[in-house]
Amino acid sequence: MYAGQLKILEEQNLLRRLNDRECSQEPRIMFEGKEYVNFSSNDYLGLANHPFIIDGAKKAMDKYGFGPGASRLLSGGSILHKHLEDRISQFKGTESSLVFNSGYAANTGVIPALSDEDTTLFSDEFNHASIIDGCRLSAAETLVYRHKDLEHLKALMERDGSKKKIVITDTVFSMDGDIAPVNKLYDICKKFGALLYLDEAHATGVIGNGKGALAHFDLNPEPWIVQMGTFSKAFGSYGAFLSGSSEVVQWTLNNARSLVFSTALPSCVIAASMAALELIDNTPELIEKLWMNREKLAAGIEIIGYDIMGSETPIIPVRTGSIENTLRLSAYLFEKGIFAPAIRPPTVKEARIRINVTAAHTDEDIERLIEALKRA
Ligand SMILES: *Cc1c(COP(=O)(O)O)cnc(C)c1O
Repeated sequence: MYAGQLKILEEQNLLRRLNDRECSQEPRIMFEGKEYVNFSSNDYLGLANHPFIIDGAKKAMDKYGFGPGASRLLSGGSILHKHLEDRISQFKGTESSLVFNSGYAANTGVIPALSDEDTTLFSDEFNHASIIDGCRLSAAETLVYRHKDLEHLKALMERDGSKKKIVITDTVFSMDGDIAPVNKLYDICKKFGALLYLDEAHATGVIGNGKGALAHFDLNPEPWIVQMGTFSKAFGSYGAFLSGSSEVVQWTLNNARSLVFSTALPSCVIAASMAALELIDNTPELIEKLWMNREKLAAGIEIIGYDIMGSETPIIPVRTGSIENTLRLSAYLFEKGIFAPAIRPPTVKEARIRINVTAAHTDEDIERLIEALKRA
């Protein structure tokens, strides 16, 4: 039934395959018995296998068991869920927080919950797919503004007659590695009386000493700012959170279908996120190392003459010019023992190699990639 369509995808070089590793998620991973330096992981601080986190998860499993058995609104949550929410509020300086099962579940649950027929959503064109899907599920109209184009955003907002306006942006863009102008979006939202919805998936644990974009830009969390972030990237764990005013959190708890109608996260996962938060809060060297590695690699790639497409963070895209070139470069690197995957449409408009560098990469790993890119 789908064979014809699959063949077309293959001919267009757009057929995707799974890449299941044969070991834990590390800077070096095994595929089919061979070792590769891994530049594809979002485990920015190298916490995915940290003993403190594993120990936290094991202790929680011993006490609370494994299966949560129900939605959080029934009996699916344990007291650890509440503790993690309190710690997130403290970390973010907000009134209240709410755990979600994943970043995808947060965006597809929270965005429809916060909007109605009288709402307009203003969404950056490079926002993550889960934001796009959240907008699609909402009753609101969505207007897409050109990537980080504030004049375009303002023009759309001026023309819009809706009662409620929500501006939605990734704070670190997941495929380009640039940072949203959150300070200017803050001013615009204040002026228009709009809500500002920040997706901090790649900012949490990475910018603003790990606290995200508001800390990065030296801004306070206001009641009209809604922050969403994940435990699945720099935290090396799994799940997500919403953080903001008590009013927004309570409303969301009553209306986000991905929260109400889905089983809670297991307590051991919650305990892992809590342990990661402690590590990030108490070990500033982790984030320092991440940024040292990022500067080393970005400088090395730029010196050879590659275009890193405006990257400002540990997400470093490398411009390749075409889907064919992207696949060829990715295959060449793979042959050299480096895993740096090709990112193609529809994930992005323009194909690229996306390199993610982490605090766990060694100088040797970084030099190996630069050397291979030089020869390619
Ligand atoms: C990864 C990501 C998500 C989804 O988070 P998961 O926890 O993986 O579901 C949402 N938004 C952005 C910007 C992301 O990069």
